[in-house]
Amino acid sequence: MVIMTSLRYFTESSFYCTRCGSKGIPVRRSKGKKREPGHLKKLFCLTCQDEVNHVEVQEAGSSYTYKEFKIEFEKGNFDKDGKRIVPSYKQFISEKGR
Ligand SMILES: [Zn+2]
Repeated sequence: MVIMTSLRYFTESSFYCTRCGSKGIPVRRSKGKKREPGHLKKLFCLTCQDEVNHVEVQEAGSSYTYKEFKIEFEKGNFDKDGKRIVPSYKQFISEKGR
């Protein structure tokens, strides 16, 4: 009997709230369906007590990690609706520097 562990087929992504910057509830994704790095998703934030856009942050080695989120968040690339002001995070980060 073959036991398929969820680890094989799912990857856990972290989401960070674009309004308060706190870490949201992890979401499991099947490995075949990877989204583009830094993709936005509306989730319920426990800190804001509201549905807010969250950014998907991937593990180290990916092109969008917590470091990139922190720059976007601290330098203000998210508007009040949690949308990006500069649509390309790469462009935003290269303009703002570190
Ligand atoms: Zn929040």
